[in-house]
Amino acid sequence: MSVKTILTEPNKILRQISKSVKGVGIEEKKLMDDMLDTMYAANGIGLAAIQIGIPKRIIVMDISKDENKKEPMYFVNPVIKKKNPEKATYEEGCLSVPGQFAEIERPNACDVEYLDYKGKKKLLKADSLLATCIQHEMDHLEGILFIDYLSKLKKSMIIKKLSKNKLNRIVV
Ligand code: ZN
Repeated sequence: MSVKTILTEPNKILRQISKSVKGVGIEEKKLMDDMLDTMYAANGIGLAAIQIGIPKRIIVMDISKDENKKEPMYFVNPVIKKKNPEKATYEEGCLSVPGQFAEIERPNACDVEYLDYKGKKKLLKADSLLATCIQHEMDHLEGILFIDYLSKLKKSMIIKKLSKNKLNRIVV
C-alpha cells in the first residue's frame, strides 16, 4: 500500500471520463488499497481513482467519524439506479480542489449498484451524507467537479486561485 499524489484542478486528467473495469482482480485491489491510504493521508472521506490519475470507475470512501474505527467502503463500476426527487444541501470540498468549499444541492437519497472489494455485486440505499458523498465521487468518474455547479464567475475565481497556489512553487 502506498500514498499517491492527488491531482488538483485545473489538471486536465481530472476531466477524463473513467472506464469500467472487467472485474475485481489483484490489480484493482492494489489500486483500492493505495487509494484508501492516499485518502486517509489527506484526511478525505472519499476518493475516485481518476484523482490519482487512473481513469477507472473505482471509488473508496470512509464517512465514519471515529478515527480509531475505520469503516472503508469500496465501489467498483458504481451505477445510480434511483435518485430521490427531494434535495439536500451540504457544504462540499474536494481533495482535488484544495481549500475551497461551496454549498451544493443534490438528491438527498439514492440507490447505487456496484461491485465491492471482493467483486460481489451489491446494492446500497444511501441517504444524507453518504448519498451526497457517493454522488460527488461518481461525478469524478464523469470528469465533473463540484465547482462545475457554481456560477461561471465563482468557478473561474476558484480556478484562478488554485492556479496561483502551485504546490511545487518555491522561492529561494
Ligand atoms: Zn472530490
